[in-house]
Amino acid sequence: MGIRKNLENIHRRIAGAAERSGRGASDITLVAVSKTMPIDRVIEAVKAGVMVLGENRVQEAGEKISDFKSQISDYEVEWHLIGNLQKNKAKNAVRLFDLIHSVDSLSLAETLNRLAGEMSKTQRVLVQVKLSDEPAKHGVSEDDCLRLLDSVAGMPNLQLEGLMTIPPFFDDPEDTRDYFRKLRLMADHAVAEGHLIKELSMGMSNDFEIAIEEGSTMVRVGTAIFGQRNYA
Ligand SMILES: *Cc1c(COP(=O)(O)O)cnc(C)c1O
Repeated sequence: MGIRKNLENIHRRIAGAAERSGRGASDITLVAVSKTMPIDRVIEAVKAGVMVLGENRVQEAGEKISDFKSQISDYEVEWHLIGNLQKNKAKNAVRLFDLIHSVDSLSLAETLNRLAGEMSKTQRVLVQVKLSDEPAKHGVSEDDCLRLLDSVAGMPNLQLEGLMTIPPFFDDPEDTRDYFRKLRLMADHAVAEGHLIKELSMGMSNDFEIAIEEGSTMVRVGTAIFGQRNYA
């Protein structure tokens, strides 16, 4: 199926899930995850209505963003970093991304705050939380989350917008529900502690409807829009 048809289908499913959670489609931001996809597919998606693009590698995104700007300058899109960020890539990340979903340590937050200050930018960020014990996953632990939120909220060049998580992969997407609910409860707790948490970035191709039912405001969807990725 083509990108346009896929998007129609996803928007319909987003609207249905939003309604089941007492909200509307406009309460949910679709982040189209374009990692590994060539620029012509990205442009096709934007022409079909995509307004936010998600990339997981800084260098790949840098090339894509400059190609995008030189090829279709009349479309305004946001670029989000959804992947793990190493400090040696932080400068380019601040230069390139509207929202960084993957702040997971005090030292990374301090680096981003300093670099954003040097560029006279206010960098929008989410704090990534790790809710499983998989060694390969990134994110701040539940125990350390509130402390990191306190620190980030006090940094003048960062704007804390919310939380993000990547649950383990399950064949049955129903099994991710508890993780999404958990992040939602952590957000409620942070709000009770005085934090402004307006975004919950959770849900991917396999489970975005369940994430929305549990309170997601941002779903990161790649395969269901673009088809299978080829990493070769
Ligand atoms: C690749 C990726 C996605 C999209 O995954 P799909 O299953 O293709 O929708 C979402 N979030 C993150 C962090 C990713 O790396």
